[in-house]
Amino acid sequence: MRMILLGAPGAGKGSVGRPLSSELGIPVISTGDIFRSNIVNKTPLGITAKEYMDKGALVPDELTVSIVEDRLSQQDCSGGFILDGFPRNLFQAGELDRILNGRGTPLDLVLNVHLSDERIIKRLSARMVCSACGESYNRLSKDTSMPGICDSCGGKVSIREDDAPETVKKRLETYYEQTRPLIEFYRTRGILKTIDNDCSIEEGSRRALKAARSIKSEI
Ligand code: AMP
Repeated sequence: MRMILLGAPGAGKGSVGRPLSSELGIPVISTGDIFRSNIVNKTPLGITAKEYMDKGALVPDELTVSIVEDRLSQQDCSGGFILDGFPRNLFQAGELDRILNGRGTPLDLVLNVHLSDERIIKRLSARMVCSACGESYNRLSKDTSMPGICDSCGGKVSIREDDAPETVKKRLETYYEQTRPLIEFYRTRGILKTIDNDCSIEEGSRRALKAARSIKSEI
């Protein structure tokens, strides 16, 4: 199963991606996580990406596409993958087609994870992320057992810098301008399914899995 998770920042792509990955046995590739781990390790990529991320803007396409192209050629992606946060605009979508068509392995499913802006702003203002493993927490719905410590790996859990209200506003604008047109792009291709994610994490995962399984039975 080769799939994309599409949706606004904070709609819950990461939360549905992790259970999908373990149920389907395929890796999640999150461009945001790749950039964040490069920022933590202060690599040249991290230093460049941070400039854009802090402004709520997209990291340049050439850089992002080459990272995804490399990652998709790794062995663990041979049985499928879940892309979280890529593509983010029509150019990237075209590049993804080029990469996958060149390998004769087209996309099976684009899962659009939907949540209203009002709920997104509420969720993001309470979101915390583990800097070591990327696990997401939320002060309102899924807090850590010990303050600031990741339940999964013991790493440090903190608020994401780009979840500051002003940056969230900019990220949502970027989403509407550049990413939302992808819904129509993939709808016309007949591979788009949408789930309403205004529900618990468990229910959102169940809806996502149901959508993925309905496609899996066809391929
Ligand atoms: P995310 O964790 O997916 O919300 O991404 C956090 C930030 O990383 C975004 O606001 C962008 O600045 C950057 N980013 C993530 N994915 C992409 C992408 N496909 N293209 C460009 N920038 C990206």
